[in-house]
Amino acid sequence: MLYFVGAGPGAVDLITMRGHKLLTEADKVIYAGSLVNPELLNYCKEGCEKLNSAHMTLEEVIEEVKKSELENKMTVRLHTGDSSIYGAIREQIDMLKSLNINFEVVPGVSSFCGAAASIGAEYTLPNVSQSVIITRMEGRTPVPERESIRSFAAHKATMVLFLSSGLTEELSKELIAGGYEPETPVAVVYKATWPDEKIFKCTISTLPSVMKENNINKTALILVGYFLGDEYERSELYNPTFTHEFRKGIE
Ligand code: SAH
Repeated sequence: MLYFVGAGPGAVDLITMRGHKLLTEADKVIYAGSLVNPELLNYCKEGCEKLNSAHMTLEEVIEEVKKSELENKMTVRLHTGDSSIYGAIREQIDMLKSLNINFEVVPGVSSFCGAAASIGAEYTLPNVSQSVIITRMEGRTPVPERESIRSFAAHKATMVLFLSSGLTEELSKELIAGGYEPETPVAVVYKATWPDEKIFKCTISTLPSVMKENNINKTALILVGYFLGDEYERSELYNPTFTHEFRKGIE
């Protein structure tokens, strides 16, 4: 049996209880060493084999899982944040299926949730934005043309950019070309929830220089939009005059 486990964004106590339990039971852990906090491996039992997938190909990962299966061992594949976001699990799942190896996915706290928590923000503020666009700049991995930053920017919805901290010159230009005002607020959260987390508040136009001055070019999320501002409307859910299924409002 293979368990894909979301490691959470960084802090060792932000893994789920289910994920933690599986880590303590695993005979083998294949972890995404470039981003997973290595301290999580302290939860593993003695004798657990720990492999860093940063040095491995997909085929090598699957080979290790196959070996475990033959030996009747339990393997945890530990992915950073939640594995559904840029986790490259689909290709692993398809290979496991073709080999008839059983698997289960255990969700994790994605870094975009960790980052919002770190800055005490709500992505979906009433009358500001009710949608969150999770995307990335095109790098060595292409992004479909119809998902250009420019086209998303036209919505002026909340945007969360993964994997883009080395490309902020272009990002800033594209966001403005799409319709965001240059002074739209931006927050950069570097290593959200890790002990060495850093937060920078800026605007779309100052983003590239802030990244440069602070030497941030990886492990950061770029959060864009007026949810970072001070204007919004209160929610209806907690409005004293609003009636809903669980509460009668004052007339
Ligand atoms: N599955 C992961 C994302 C993996 S892609 C998740 O759910 O968070 C890797 C990118 O995620 C990094 O380039 C960075 O943009 C972002 N990232 C991962 N952990 C982060 C953290 N603790 N703080 C800020 N960004 C992080």
